[in-house]
Amino acid sequence: MAVDAAAHRLQPVGRPVPQPGPGEVLVRVRACGVCRTDLHIIDGELPPHRDAVVPGHEVVGEIVAAGAGAMRFAIGARVGIPWLGRACGRCSYCRMARENLCDAPQFTGYDRDGGYAEYAVADERFCLVLPDSCDDLHAAPLLCAGLIGFRTWRLAGGASAQRIGLWGFGAAAHIVCQLAVAQGQEVHAFTRPGDLQGQAFARSLGAAWAGGSDERPPSELDAALIFAPAGSLVPPALATVRKGGIVVCGGIHMSDIPAFPYALLWGERELRSVANLTRADGDDFFALLQHISLRTHVRAYPLARANDAIADLRAGRFEGAAVLVP
Ligand SMILES: [Zn+2]
Ligand SMILES: [Zn+2]
Repeated sequence: MAVDAAAHRLQPVGRPVPQPGPGEVLVRVRACGVCRTDLHIIDGELPPHRDAVVPGHEVVGEIVAAGAGAMRFAIGARVGIPWLGRACGRCSYCRMARENLCDAPQFTGYDRDGGYAEYAVADERFCLVLPDSCDDLHAAPLLCAGLIGFRTWRLAGGASAQRIGLWGFGAAAHIVCQLAVAQGQEVHAFTRPGDLQGQAFARSLGAAWAGGSDERPPSELDAALIFAPAGSLVPPALATVRKGGIVVCGGIHMSDIPAFPYALLWGERELRSVANLTRADGDDFFALLQHISLRTHVRAYPLARANDAIADLRAGRFEGAAVLVP
């Protein structure tokens, strides 16, 4: 399923099975999660990097062939292919272990064809080893919603924050909520006003409080994590955090942030974004998952119905994450 940029939708296309180049592996896709970033790519909110790209950067699959020099994995091994498909390894960011900020990155499903397909090719160095405890379907959302959520959570203070707010209770938040509750944190979930079903979902995953984005939580929070792509949430999120608290924006694209009084930022509050992920994030996140029980909620769609999955995500018609199965 490739992006038709003019029609803002996906089109089924037939292509030969790609061949792995040097250092690359050919992966038979078993499941691929649908991320909001894919919507931004299909809608053109992120400028196209490649014509008729195959989206999908939460790819779980099995290695079926290896290119020259690719020896990291055995044929048949299960791997995950995340958003960071390749980093240059030479720029100043790569050299200071911040490859998520690489000056010449290649992103899966954006610069490189991704997992909305039966086969995908990946640089073996950027593939991740997934926890055995998770089947293909439930592992897929961990690769972006989970990983970016984890990075966002860490930048928001990790387990040192006692009370956190999650704004937008979609794929990422439903994973971070479970992670944070397992660390003994008090989670406050903010949904669209009136989304009682989303609020009940958040409570079912251990949130201590859930309400609309127009409501105030019962107490001040140490950190706010914004996963909804709405800049209008930044001022109210800032208003919920204590002095010295932090607001972290976890999305790749956000609508404009409206002007707000300086008093909301005053008191050494911080506002920052999260960009992409590093391979170390992946290793740390999957290591942490060995110690906590976390279950992703997924809705599976056949690959041919990718446009329905996209439409359902856009309309908020399911809880958790959509996953395509070829
Ligand atoms: Zn680099
Ligand atoms: Zn993503």
